[in-house]
Amino acid sequence: MTTTDLATLPTCNTHGQMTLRPADRQSAEQRWCGTWYDCAAHRCLTSVLLPSPALMAQLAEQATRAGAR
Ligand SMILES: [Zn+2]
Repeated sequence: MTTTDLATLPTCNTHGQMTLRPADRQSAEQRWCGTWYDCAAHRCLTSVLLPSPALMAQLAEQATRAGAR
């Protein structure tokens, strides 16, 4: 089992439980965005992103700017 701080892992609609993506399989940009989970099934490209605080802050800032327009 992969260690995670989530109570429940994200699931693929087709294959079920997903696994935490290893850090060495992520670009710096992906690591910045947050925590990625991939479907463990071979050739299934389903992935889930849990946004990092840094990404959430940027999205909130963009929303504020869009609202001010
Ligand atoms: Zn899948």
